[in-house]
Amino acid sequence: MLGLTLKHIKKVYPNGFEAVKKLSLEVRAGEFVSFVGPSGCGKSTTLRMIAGLEEISHGELYIGDKKANALSPRERGIAMVFQSYALFPHMTVAANIGFGLKIQKVPVAERKKKIEWALDLLDLDGLGDRKPAQLSGGQRQRVALGRALVLDPDVLLLDEPLSNLDAKLRIKMRLELKRIHKELNATIIYVTHDQAEAMTLSDRIAILKDGDLMQCGTPTEIYNNPANEFVAGFVGSPPMNFISGQLNSDKENMTFVSEYGTFIFDHVLQTKVQEKGISGPITLGVRPEDITISTQKADNAFQGMSIVTETLGSDDYVSVLPRGVKRGELLTVRIKPEMNFPLDKEVWMEPKTEKIHVFS
Ligand code: ATP
Repeated sequence: MLGLTLKHIKKVYPNGFEAVKKLSLEVRAGEFVSFVGPSGCGKSTTLRMIAGLEEISHGELYIGDKKANALSPRERGIAMVFQSYALFPHMTVAANIGFGLKIQKVPVAERKKKIEWALDLLDLDGLGDRKPAQLSGGQRQRVALGRALVLDPDVLLLDEPLSNLDAKLRIKMRLELKRIHKELNATIIYVTHDQAEAMTLSDRIAILKDGDLMQCGTPTEIYNNPANEFVAGFVGSPPMNFISGQLNSDKENMTFVSEYGTFIFDHVLQTKVQEKGISGPITLGVRPEDITISTQKADNAFQGMSIVTETLGSDDYVSVLPRGVKRGELLTVRIKPEMNFPLDKEVWMEPKTEKIHVFS
């Protein structure tokens, strides 16, 4: 297994559209890195440039220490699994898995051994003689994965491999992928628009927007220290709450005035603001689990009216509107269902100040 280096990689399509803008990233050997971001942000384009299916307009790609820009897809030692499995319907599972090896003229005995290895690894024992039509969606996806893995690729690229599966199967296959990655210690680049999938699978996540890399970090880093408002809103479900307002400072106090009332910044928040050097109109970000809510008046808290509760079984989510407003930005607070939180009440919400994010 080898690592990958992307140095100022750019993709400009023939019509002049810049789909990827100066992307730099290092993927270590054995690392699982996911590319996430909204539709059209350049995930697939980047993956296709790595695979050699799309020309790199500017910048350099290294596979291990070797510059790969001019290498053909075959010479790159990379295998790719697509969303649409692309299995050959007339071939058996075993023949599908062994197809690439046959093309490479690998001797029959060795081919057989590798196919057996893949069937075992992917929990497909006994299904080698079936045709793809006689398999479930998850089994088909594993065959597609097997076909890539038997080639012993230095890097494995997966483009939304689970998106054709139903929700339950996706979660099962997610665990399978995690197990396979651990077992093979493979270098994997994974494209998904599902942030939960990226969070659970990846060593690191690269978040893209409009062809720009917004942040690359471990799931915990991204969740706890998002680099900007976009990343903060993209990761986490339900998403982080954002409250926009005005920051006012005088010699004694720093106060934040918003539709949810006035909130006094403590020392922790003052330091955060000073470090970022921001003032005036700002946005605060706080996750639903980092707020406590009560119908009891609190001294320094955001105020609103509880209007809706969503029940998930293990948790409830209470949504709050600013007082006197019919429609507007809701704040969501996670609570335990036992609280049986009342609706249409005036409420006070106290955020954990150390968990508040400040954005300019
Ligand atoms: P999705 O999640 O929808 O698959 P993505 O992040 O993978 O999106 P890409 O497929 O990489 O996005 O596309 C990035 C941008 O480049 C999009 O705006 C797309 O319309 C544009 N694009 C893709 N292929 C071409 C092309 N051949 N010519 C011009 N623009 C293209």
